[in-house]
Amino acid sequence: MSGIKEKVSYIQGLADGLNITDEATAKVLKAIIKTLEDMADIIEEHDECIDELDDCIEDICDELDDIDEYLFDDEDEDEDDECDFFEAECPHCGEMIYFDNQLSEKMEELICPNCNESIIEDIEEDEE
Ligand SMILES: [Zn+2]
Repeated sequence: MSGIKEKVSYIQGLADGLNITDEATAKVLKAIIKTLEDMADIIEEHDECIDELDDCIEDICDELDDIDEYLFDDEDEDEDDECDFFEAECPHCGEMIYFDNQLSEKMEELICPNCNESIIEDIEEDEE
């Protein structure tokens, strides 16, 4: 991970090789190394926690992306599509009628409001 424990062990080895005769100096050095070891332990623990949190945040972001896609996908399509209605001329009375594209899945149900005739069926008949 951070490799800080290995560095502390290396310093410990160097200190062991010094053969310090002064007791006070040896005591201070030992205390410093002990503190470094404690810090290395804490840093390693924190690194593990941060990794776990990273994974959690990544999962949450993925879920949010999915939710965002689910909630706003249709809206985005509408924004991209400037023409969200279509127009048709009634073959019976010649009236120009505008329909919302969202209704297009129910095209067979489209009725001219002017003469109450079905528009789509007649257009298809005209094309044949
Ligand atoms: Zn009509």
